[in-house]
Amino acid sequence: MPVDFVFYNSLIQFLQPYNATLVAVSKTKPEEAIRELYNCGQRDFGENYVQELLEKKDKLPGDIRWHFIGHLQSNKVKQIVPFVHLVHSIDRLSLLQEVNKQAARIGRVQPVLLQMHIAREETKFGFDQAEITQLLGEKDLAKFPNIKIKGLMGMASFTDDELILRAEFSQLIQTYQQFHVSHPGMDTLSLGMSGDYKLALSMGSNMVRIGSLLFGKRG
Ligand SMILES: *Cc1c(COP(=O)(O)O)cnc(C)c1O
Repeated sequence: MPVDFVFYNSLIQFLQPYNATLVAVSKTKPEEAIRELYNCGQRDFGENYVQELLEKKDKLPGDIRWHFIGHLQSNKVKQIVPFVHLVHSIDRLSLLQEVNKQAARIGRVQPVLLQMHIAREETKFGFDQAEITQLLGEKDLAKFPNIKIKGLMGMASFTDDELILRAEFSQLIQTYQQFHVSHPGMDTLSLGMSGDYKLALSMGSNMVRIGSLLFGKRG
């Protein structure tokens, strides 16, 4: 299935007034599909699996900004920290510690987002609001000198019910707004996928992660 360029161009237009960044989610899709979108000017791509990301990265242009958006095992952190632009999926304290440790080893400050658990589904990962509040307290942040927390990420429940989506998004947006004021470097809210990005943008998202609408459904 070819990349949908007509949709891509209309999406770029649509995002402009929101000043929002598009992360093109290319998991399971071949390098050629990424290259096609790259040739249209797209530079931010999102991947979910470490091994797949490493294989693709080696074959694709060096100025791609790779976003890691999947559940990340601690023992794989070392492999992506040298190059990854933004880790969206920091969902537990031990992972934050490992990213800090691996970034320190190579003298890097790794930009990350904290993933907040907003969906009803138990299967989705993330911190709750109290944990985020605790973590963003001044003392706790000082424990992670090689991490830069750029903002928050969330995934809503898989539903068409706008009331549920709104309620879940609001939790995240309220938490984000609270810290956006006290932490000036926290300027990224990664919220919205193919099914719900318009709603997410209308509520304040400034980074959307879109896969299937661009690359076609995944098998
Ligand atoms: C797969 C994935 C996406 C993209 O989903 P689509 O519905 O295909 O747009 C976005 N965010 C995360 C965390 C994902 O795993």
